[in-house]
Amino acid sequence: MEELYHIIGGERVKGTSGRFADIYNPAIGEVEKKVPLANADELNAAIANAKEAQPAWGATNPQKRGRVMMKFVDLLNRDMDKLAEALSREHGKTIPDAKGDIIRGLEVAEFCIGAPQMLKGEYSEGAGPGIDMYSIRQPVGVAAGITPFNFPAMIPMWKFCPAIVCGNAFILKPSERDPSVPLMLAELMLEAGLPAGILNVVNGDKEAVDVILDHPDIAGVGFVGSTAIAEYVYSRGCANGKRVQCFGGAKNHMIVMPDADMDQVVDALIGSSYGAAGERCMAISVAVPVGKETADRLVAKLTPRVEALKIAPYTAGDDADFGPLVTKEALARVKGFVDTGVEEGATLVVDGREFSMQGYENGYFIGGCLFDNVTKDMEIYKQEIFGPVLTIARTENYEEALDLAMTHEYGNGVAMFTRDGDTARDFASRINIGMVGVNVPIPVPLAYYTFGGWKRSGFGDLNQHGPDAFRFYTRTKTVTSRWPSGIKEGADFSIPTM
Ligand code: NAD
Repeated sequence: MEELYHIIGGERVKGTSGRFADIYNPAIGEVEKKVPLANADELNAAIANAKEAQPAWGATNPQKRGRVMMKFVDLLNRDMDKLAEALSREHGKTIPDAKGDIIRGLEVAEFCIGAPQMLKGEYSEGAGPGIDMYSIRQPVGVAAGITPFNFPAMIPMWKFCPAIVCGNAFILKPSERDPSVPLMLAELMLEAGLPAGILNVVNGDKEAVDVILDHPDIAGVGFVGSTAIAEYVYSRGCANGKRVQCFGGAKNHMIVMPDADMDQVVDALIGSSYGAAGERCMAISVAVPVGKETADRLVAKLTPRVEALKIAPYTAGDDADFGPLVTKEALARVKGFVDTGVEEGATLVVDGREFSMQGYENGYFIGGCLFDNVTKDMEIYKQEIFGPVLTIARTENYEEALDLAMTHEYGNGVAMFTRDGDTARDFASRINIGMVGVNVPIPVPLAYYTFGGWKRSGFGDLNQHGPDAFRFYTRTKTVTSRWPSGIKEGADFSIPTM
């Protein structure tokens, strides 16, 4: 069986802890690889390596650092098919979706080519008598990223590209469920000319995460995953004096106004709720039709579409809308939520629990599920299911729909479908959620804007990618300088003012 490795100091390094995690091909339910789970010694070695390599990289001019990103983008395009195949094989998502995962990361790498512009400071000539004042952005030192299974290409790149182009060294701790692509990405960065030690990939679980959170030489930590772990990482990292940003779970609502084009609504819901088997933090998991007539029309049009979803392994090519869930545990969890919804009294309009595929009986497949008449107090409404399960929560009017989304504990993404500009504008202005779509079901901001949820979907002050990433991975220093010709004789004992 293939045994994966860490990448430390530019080299593949075998795990020495003796602990491993199994990596499955979820379409067939078989273990295909094992990944070492690092202990403190392995983490300490990687962090020491990164700390030693960082000063020279930090002193390399930003344009040269940006050129590594430029080359990296070329290499991603060169290896796109290979990366997508490896990604789908471990994650289960379709090949076009795996390419989307890679391209969304590639776009952040492209944005990072512009580092010289993003890293420019400010300068005030004559801020006082003979005084010039300027601010500079300097790397934080060694930063770390802890990433989830559901975007094994995109999210590692959202972390390491800006961190590295800002002049930091980086420790990536990818998900132990699908670590092959993060390792491949690190090797492409080395091929692109990144010096050894600047990007280290250390595989592991909670033990590795805790070493990162406690290590005095890690200055910043970026995390993406479930909310409970996000909160844990945030509080422990902050308590140790690090800058930390953590992005957690979601329950994204889509409000459907009576004037919305119902065909567009149904197309949008089918793609955004069931794509990637619902394993996306920006998946729509609650449709909120306004008015009984809207709800009845929605259910009538949506039901046959959910029943007709094509579920297949990634090897089926275009014949798959989505593939299996990532693990047996994920499958049991999602089925458990469907059982709970039935017990809670929601109407199960489409039941995908019994889905099975000939030749893939051991794969972690579930068919699309659709619940109607879901209410606020139900667990299937309150919790993130992270599977191909769409819930419909009917409301009587716009204010009730808005209140529903606003009072949910998560605040990652939200959408409204309407033709009424006035309502859409009011919605975008009042909603307390980080990413808002108007007739756009998955409003994932592009690389040059920032990505981040509100409420219990995000912890910390700054978002991912866009200008915020450059703020997160740098420290601002402000320099006040006066030259002898500006200095008047004598000591001044009061605080200088202008
Ligand atoms: P997860 O929380 O299980 O794991 C995320 C990372 O934390 C992994 O690297 C894992 O090894 C590590 N980890 C797991 N248990 C830990 C523990 N007890 N202590 C310390 N570290 C631990 O998340 P997942 O299942 O891999 O990913 C799915 C979740 O991620 C969903 O909740 C999804 O909404 C969320 N997500 C959020 C965003 C966002 O931007 N808000 C994006 C993608 C995914």
